[in-house]
This record gives sequence, structure tokens and C-alpha cells, in this order.
Amino acid sequence: MPTLPRLPLPRWRFAAAMLRALVPSDCPLCAARSRGGLLCAACEESVCWAARTPASLGLPWRCGRCALPLPEHDTACPDCAERATAFERTIIAFDYAPPADALILQLKNGLRYGRADLLGNLLAEAVRHHVLPLAPATVLVPIPASTASLRRRGFNPAAEIARALGRDLELPVRRDLLRRDREQAKQSSLGRLGRRQAAQNLYASSPRARGLHIGLVDDVMTTGSTMHAAAAALRAAGAASVVALAAARTPGQFPAAPPRRPRAEWRG
Ligand SMILES: [Zn+2]
Ligand SMILES: [Zn+2]
Repeated sequence: MPTLPRLPLPRWRFAAAMLRALVPSDCPLCAARSRGGLLCAACEESVCWAARTPASLGLPWRCGRCALPLPEHDTACPDCAERATAFERTIIAFDYAPPADALILQLKNGLRYGRADLLGNLLAEAVRHHVLPLAPATVLVPIPASTASLRRRGFNPAAEIARALGRDLELPVRRDLLRRDREQAKQSSLGRLGRRQAAQNLYASSPRARGLHIGLVDDVMTTGSTMHAAAAALRAAGAASVVALAAARTPGQFPAAPPRRPRAEWRG
């Protein structure tokens, strides 16, 4: 497994990271000795390696829009080839699969709040490793949680990850630019089409999003329907661009060889 290059951090961020790294802790995945609540070096490399490494090195090809692993070299998955998403590309920290999915479950179900810092850190590293950097004035916007999940957990995991990501990348987090317009059925019981229909018109954006470059943050991207609906609302409000930033991407949603159709551009 090749050693990944690390991009330089600003000097004060580097000093803060060094200080945090001095605090001993256990690796959340393998319980090996680690520091600062982060993954041990071996786990970080094995979990994040595939998402950070360009496909040109022979690793899983990914859709240029939604980061779905593809079985062969192609620029877009069938979903994105059929309908351009309202977000222009996606950056993920890792695929939502064992053992790394435990980090998400520890945050969302186990209410281990410290995992948001870890996930924000891994996502920040993914942004730094990505071949296309974020626009310098990017504003981070978390996907708003439903009232039901806010009531159940008492917090919005996407907002906590956005907060940690913003602190790491020194980017502002804006929670006033996007809101849910209505509640919906629990998405985990829905298929791809059901998720797409359920997410339509789910979000509304403030006119203050006009002209902004947005980094739209979520914990897990499953089909991309939520990201698309939220990005569509932001674009409709005049956002200059939207990049999807997800801690984890579900890799198993690849449909079986659908026919290729001409791509319809997103409008509105
Ligand atoms: Zn470990
Ligand atoms: Zn795609």
C-alpha cells in the first residue's frame, strides 16, 4: 500500500495539530494506541486510502460527480449521466463500509460526539488530498436534520461534522442559508427512486446564498438525492457553485447496467 503524500498545513494549524496529537487515546477502530482521538496511522491509511488516491493509480474509478465507485473507467455513473446533479462534484473521506462505518454509527447512534471532530478531520484531509481544491471563499453549509432526528439525538451530525471541518480548513459554517421546508418519511426504508422523489422540494435556501461558493456537508451520502435536492435549492437561490462534502459514501447503490440516455441539464 503506497504512502500518501500530505499537503502542508498553515503554520498555526500545524502547531495546534501537533499539540492535539500529544494527547494519548485509543484508536476508535482497532483500540491500538493513538493520540488526539484520531485513528491510528494504519487504520487511517487503510480506511481512507481508496477515497484519497486518484483513479490514475489504478484504484476504484469513481463518478466525477457523486464519487460512486465505478466498475470501469467512466466519467459519470448511470444516475449522473442521466441527470446532471445540482452539485458539481463530491469529496468523501471514506466509503461507508466496515470497519469505517462504525465511526458514523458511533456518532449517530452511540452519540459519541467526539467522533464529529474525527470525521471532520478525515474529511478535511480528503479535501486537502483532492486534485481540485475548494474555491478560496467557500462557505460550509450542513444538510439540515429533520425535526424527528433532532428530537431523537439532540444534535445534527452533519452540522457537527461541518463545524469540525470548518475549524480544520478555516472556512465559515453557515446554518442560516438552508432550511427544511417539510418533514418526510425515514429515508433508510426507501430505494433510489423513492429517495429521489422524497427529497424533491424538501429544502429551501435563503437569498443570502446568492453568489456564494458552497461546500454542502453531510455525514453519509447514500444515493445523492438529498445532496442534489439541497444543492438545487441553493443554486435556485443564486449560489455560484455547490460541492458535496460527505464523510462517507455508500458504495453499494450501483444499478445493474441501465441504458444510457442523453443527459438532461439541471435547471432551476
Ligand atoms: Zn487503528
Ligand atoms: Zn454519479
